[in-house]
Amino acid sequence: MSDFIQTSPARSLQNATQEHFIAAEAPWSGIVRKGQTIRIEDSYGQQAIDTLFYRADDFSERYSNQDTMRMQGAAYIGIDTKIMSNEGNVMLTMTADSCGRHDTSAGACSCESNTVRFGHGTKYLHACRDNFVLEVSKHGMGKRDIVPNINFFMNVPIKPNGEMTIVDGISAPGDYVELVAEMDVLCVISNCPQINNPCNGFDPTPVRVLIWDGED
Ligand SMILES: [Zn+2]
Repeated sequence: MSDFIQTSPARSLQNATQEHFIAAEAPWSGIVRKGQTIRIEDSYGQQAIDTLFYRADDFSERYSNQDTMRMQGAAYIGIDTKIMSNEGNVMLTMTADSCGRHDTSAGACSCESNTVRFGHGTKYLHACRDNFVLEVSKHGMGKRDIVPNINFFMNVPIKPNGEMTIVDGISAPGDYVELVAEMDVLCVISNCPQINNPCNGFDPTPVRVLIWDGED
């Protein structure tokens, strides 16, 4: 695991209010309060970190891929991206990004899509959709509440002709994104277990989440 990289004098490893290690292939969820900053760290590199956001006091308002792409006029997200909800509200703003490549379009892996893409022999393998179902169930939600997600650090280049493919990740150990919450949000993560394509370097590894209180 790499050393901690500081993006602000106000945020160190020591003064983080929360630190969570998400095991390889495992899900996690937690509340990020308005004004708090969440760091999602690809601790060992080349991972896909599938992520969803829900408004903490009304889960029917949630991350919207379409609204986020339309708001910034681009298919990718990066520094200053406003993460938009299906109600057109800003949920979080991305304030730091040491990687520069995150996917908004390729969605989450599932046992069903694995069998279509990689053959029936892969059906028993764990998948992000299972992680999401398990994690949102802790908050009273079900399958219908899982919407298209962000894949932090997943590399899905879109060619000029519109073609897109999942290729080798470019994130190095310790690469991170930071987002400041503009409303209280529930963050739900699946540390992607996929081993049939290069999205995790064919080797799923643990990732880390850190949360800091606002600076004011
Ligand atoms: Zn996955």
